[in-house]
Amino acid sequence: MSDYTNILVAVDFSSSTDQVLAKADEIAQRNNARINLLHVVEYLPPIDTGFDPLFTENPMINEDVLVENARNSLKKLSERNKLNNASLVVELGTPKHEITRYVEEHQCDLVVIGSHGRHGVSILLGSTANAVLHAMPCDVLTVKLK
Ligand code: AMP
Repeated sequence: MSDYTNILVAVDFSSSTDQVLAKADEIAQRNNARINLLHVVEYLPPIDTGFDPLFTENPMINEDVLVENARNSLKKLSERNKLNNASLVVELGTPKHEITRYVEEHQCDLVVIGSHGRHGVSILLGSTANAVLHAMPCDVLTVKLK
C-alpha cells in the first residue's frame, strides 16, 4: 500500500525550487502518487483610499498578467524537471490560505515545501513554511534548504 497518493508541492520560484521538486518526485515515484505544483501569486491590488497613492499603478501589471506569467513559469519548471504529468495550479492570495484550501479541496495527503524561500533565510523556518506546518490537515515534508 502507498503512504501517499496525492502530493502538493508549494512552489515559489526561488533558487531552491528544483531541490524541493526533486524530493517530491522521489517520494511520488516510490508511492506511485500524483503531483500538484501550486504557486500562489501574492498581489494586493491598489485600493482607493482617498490619499495620494504610494505607488503609481502600472497598467502592465495586473492580476491576469501575473497569473498568466506564473502559469508559464510553472510549465517551464515542470518540463525542466521532467514532471510532465503534474497538475499545474496558480492561485491568487496568501500562500498559507491558498495552500490549505487546495489541500482540503483536493484531499492531498502530503505537502512538500522548502524550509526557506523568498521570505527569509535568517530564521529557523521561513514564514510560509511555519504557517503551513501549523495549518495543514495532512503530513508536511519541509525540505531543508541551505
Ligand atoms: P518562506 O517561508 O516564504 O520563506 O518559503 C518557504 C517555502 O514556502 C518555499 O520554499 C515554498 O515551498 C513555499 N512558498 C513560499 N511562498 C510561496 C508561494 N507564493 N506560493 C507557493 N509556495 C510558496
